[in-house]
Amino acid sequence: MFSSESKLNESILNRLNEIEGLQIDRNPDPASTDFGGMIRGRVQAIAKPTSIDAIAALVTMANQGHFALIPRACGWSQSGQSIPQDGISIDMRGLKGIKIDGDRGIVHCGGGVSWRELIAETGPQGWMPEVHPFNLDLSIGGTLSAGGMGSTGHRYGMALSSVESAIVVTGSGERVETSAKVRPEVLEAVLGGVGQFGLICAIALRLRPILPRLRTWFLLYDDLPKMLADERILSLQPWCTHLEGYTSAAFQGVKLNGDRQERIPFARWFYGLQISEEYTPGSEVEASTRLKELNYRELLHVQDDEAIAHASRYDSRFEMMKGMGLWEQPHPWLECLLPYEKAMELLPQIISQLPLSLGDGHRIMPLTNVPHPRFSMQPDGDLAIVFAILSTIHPTALNSALKSLQNIHQQLIEAGGKRYLSGWLFEPNEATWRQHYGIEYEAWQSRKRSLDPNGVLRSYLLP
Ligand SMILES: Cc1cc2nc3c(=O)[nH]c(=O)nc-3n(C[C@H](O)[C@H](O)[C@H](O)COP(=O)(O)OP(=O)(O)OC[C@H]3O[C@@H](n4cnc5c(N)ncnc54)[C@H](O)[C@@H]3O)c2cc1C
Repeated sequence: MFSSESKLNESILNRLNEIEGLQIDRNPDPASTDFGGMIRGRVQAIAKPTSIDAIAALVTMANQGHFALIPRACGWSQSGQSIPQDGISIDMRGLKGIKIDGDRGIVHCGGGVSWRELIAETGPQGWMPEVHPFNLDLSIGGTLSAGGMGSTGHRYGMALSSVESAIVVTGSGERVETSAKVRPEVLEAVLGGVGQFGLICAIALRLRPILPRLRTWFLLYDDLPKMLADERILSLQPWCTHLEGYTSAAFQGVKLNGDRQERIPFARWFYGLQISEEYTPGSEVEASTRLKELNYRELLHVQDDEAIAHASRYDSRFEMMKGMGLWEQPHPWLECLLPYEKAMELLPQIISQLPLSLGDGHRIMPLTNVPHPRFSMQPDGDLAIVFAILSTIHPTALNSALKSLQNIHQQLIEAGGKRYLSGWLFEPNEATWRQHYGIEYEAWQSRKRSLDPNGVLRSYLLP
């Protein structure tokens, strides 16, 4: 591996600009930070490829010229996963193209395609990805590099478990067509690999057939173990298409906080569960049938919708956040996959300690354990619970928020939780990665050495 000092110079940048299908943008500012808003990296240029050949040529030159690269889509991650420390950011969004293979229930697409673009093609033909994220503007390549969580995770796990095959340019510049049968060591490394092993240029993703309409029941719970128990029951029901759980804080004034005699705002926590079932008109099933075994407090709302429109249900929330200026503030997001039994035990305690300044609407979602790539670390057991604190923090309150989050992070990790690698990871060191990868740590390192022998793929997160 070569030194981290950049060897990029004018002459190399000019030569890169001559690669067919590659444009070099000398204004690197847009790639120097990410949605987390807490890190600023040193970016020398942004490379904008539109073909796999151009990417292979760029990576080959990086190996010869000893400069660093990191792929990026929209930079929605939050710990510098897509920020180079000193090198070139590769904007993967030029890798387009969508082709549906209805006979096999598969879609082939470019790594830079967004979920919104994909669903606009597959939805009208009666297909959806098995799993898609709530934010449809994420790129498919970037999402699969983290994992890909959505409201069908109780049936299909993470989106990376739906990948049939991919075309990847590895860190050594080799173009590889990879699947579970052909060069599997490449596929299992890039899925969940946060850009460290290769660039996902094209993907074949499994689809699920959809029914045109969707009914959603909005349930209120006053007890978390009851909601978690119902999530477990529902995750085994074939009719249950989408499942999403949240926290909801009901403010109860200001109280004295134990010995320290501080006064703190406090809340009674409630929980919301949204359960959706797809149907063809005329075959709707009533709540009295579907909800009869569940232990909720109140059925708040029943909603019928189009199955395709439901996919973009969070657009209005994201627009509202942008309108309130929340998009520009720091986002130290914390997502963690917990073993189900530990979630039952620990989450009620953690939630009762959460400062209200971290906001509300924390997610509590089931994730079933389906076969997944080797380095996508997920808890053992048939079901995990994803706990996500997705806060927007004003810069003046950042230090105290990070302290609270660090404490929660520690409790979750000690309980066997595995962090989702797109969030705020508290500037990890070698011990953190050793703990995260556990028995796979040595294999993870050795795979990096074999697929990226010169260490050209380097981000701020993993320098
Ligand atoms: C508002 C918001 C909502 C979100 N909702 C969800 C959600 O519902 N579910 C969910 O799972 N996640 C969600 N995320 C997190 C998201 O999955 C990650 O941020 C993910 O990284 C995708 O973002 P991106 O496409 O912008 O990729 P980037 O953030 O640009 O990149 C992420 C990582 O992938 C690498 N990368 C990017 N493209 C490629 C490629 N083609 N090949 C190889 N490596 C690549 C980068 O180097 C980096 O390490 C959300 C994030 C935000 C900000």
